[in-house]
Parts: sequence; C-alpha cells; structure tokens
Amino acid sequence: MMMEKMRAKSNGLKRVVAGVAALVMIGGLAACGNAGSDSGDASANADGTIEVVASINQWGSVARDLGGDKVDVKSIMTATNVEAHDYEPTSSDIAAFSKAQVAVINGADYDSWASKAADSTKATVVDAAETAGKKDGDNPHVWFSHDVREKTADAITAAYVKALPDQKEYFEQQHEAWEEKEQAVEDKIDAAKATTEGVPYAASESVAWYLADDLGMTDATTDGYKNASANESEPSPADIKAFVDALESGSIKTFVLNTQEEDSTTKQLIAAAKKGSVPTVELTEQMPKEYDDLTDWMGALVDDFAAAVK
Ligand SMILES: [Zn+2]
Repeated sequence: MMMEKMRAKSNGLKRVVAGVAALVMIGGLAACGNAGSDSGDASANADGTIEVVASINQWGSVARDLGGDKVDVKSIMTATNVEAHDYEPTSSDIAAFSKAQVAVINGADYDSWASKAADSTKATVVDAAETAGKKDGDNPHVWFSHDVREKTADAITAAYVKALPDQKEYFEQQHEAWEEKEQAVEDKIDAAKATTEGVPYAASESVAWYLADDLGMTDATTDGYKNASANESEPSPADIKAFVDALESGSIKTFVLNTQEEDSTTKQLIAAAKKGSVPTVELTEQMPKEYDDLTDWMGALVDDFAAAVK
C-alpha cells in the first residue's frame, strides 16, 4: 500500500525499518505473539510501524498526520450518523486497544469506554482533553479547540518518539508539517474574526462551542435548554419554547445544528431558525468522510461560520 511505496523510496530508511522488524520478531516469538504479555522493549509492529488506536476519527486523523508512514492507525468511531455520546464498543474495538502501542482517546467523559479499554493495556495513552487540563464535566468536544489540538499533537509526537526513538527526527518533521496546517486554520480563524467577533449564536448541542469561542462568538443559547443539553437530559417544554422564541425573534445570528444528535426537539429548533431567518451551520461530532484530516475539517467549518455570519 502507500506505506510500502513510501518506504521503498529510501534505502536507508528501509534498513532501519528492517532492523526494528527483526528485533520485534524475536520479541514476538518470546512472547508467543500475545500483545498483552511481557514483550520487553518491543516498540513496533513486525513491519516497523507503531500500532495506534484512536477512539474517534478526528483524533485518528491527527495521529496519522503526525505519524506518517511510521504508524498504523485504527480509528474506532468514524460514522457521523450514530449516537456519539453513548457509543457501545464492540469486542474488536476493545481488542484494538490491547494491540496498540499508542492509544489516543478524547477524554472528558466523551469516550469513557475507551479510557477503560486503554487503562488495562501497556499502550502509551494520550488523553486529548487532559493535555489541556479539561476534565470530566467540561465540554467534551475538545477537538474543536485550537489549544487542545496543539497540546494533543505535542503529546502524540512525544508518544511516537518514546515508541521509536530512532525516528525522532522523522516525527519532528511530521510535527512541523502538521503545525503548518494548524497554523493555517489559526490564520483563517483570525481573519474570520473580523466578521464573527461578538456575534451571538445558539446551538442545538454545545458541539462546536470551542470553535465558536476561538472565533470570538457569544453563546446565546437560552439557559434552560443549554443546561439540560449539557446534562444530557431532556429540556422542558418551557426551555424549548424560550429557545424557539429567541430564534424566531432574530436576536440570534447563527444557529449551530449538530446533525448527529437530531431528535424531535431539534426539528422544532430548525423550524424556528427558518422562521427567524437565522443562518444555520450544520455539523457532526465525528469527522465527515470528505475531509482528509481534522485541520482540513476545522478550516472548512471556519468558512461555514464566517459565511453564516455575513
Ligand atoms: Zn456531542
């Protein structure tokens, strides 16, 4: 596959990879191929790559960008039409964690199943929320935050260097290339701020709160609804009415709709936004397939917000 082609380009690289592979094969034999048993310092797959598992595809894409052809990344949650907050892992999802050398989880109670699965393994765990000091109870949609993306990328690169110290330089180059892309998103955010700063928006779910915050927008979601949504409880009819009234009145300038968490209530909100001529930004929890990676997706969403506010 692509990995093989890229490796074939460099003979020197090929030799290093072959050396690592030989070491791992010895370790693998001694350990009877049981990934969970004591395999000493074996830090790579038989082909010299680091086995990485990510609970959600947005972080999986960052792990792939940073690891290049030295990693084999498996993302568990990739669909944009399933309940993201109550995901039930399959046994093969859990097995992917036991095989991994690096596990990237979101944290902040978004994917507690993944934290649990990772805890019982020897994998180096990167908890995205934790890298930026976010805890259970904080808004868990941390991939929308520039700050969290930066800190998570740092932690992933550190985990890769720990797993394959010989490839430090390679991982640093990958990191620099990623930084350039993230900086482009940051530049886009700064440019968009000219129109988005201070603009009141409301959201069906606090999914893009960090991005809206980076854009300097004001969360004008009515309190009752917002609190119910944050606690994953049903908003009361009065909460919904207050939100509907606010949308219809035109005081809210952008409506953010999480299409991955739609129900009868969000249908009412969509109708109200239409009635109040409030532009709507639609988005999902997991990264849609048409995007290459998290920075690509975030860049597109910044454009969507800027276009809605205009
Ligand atoms: Zn959510």
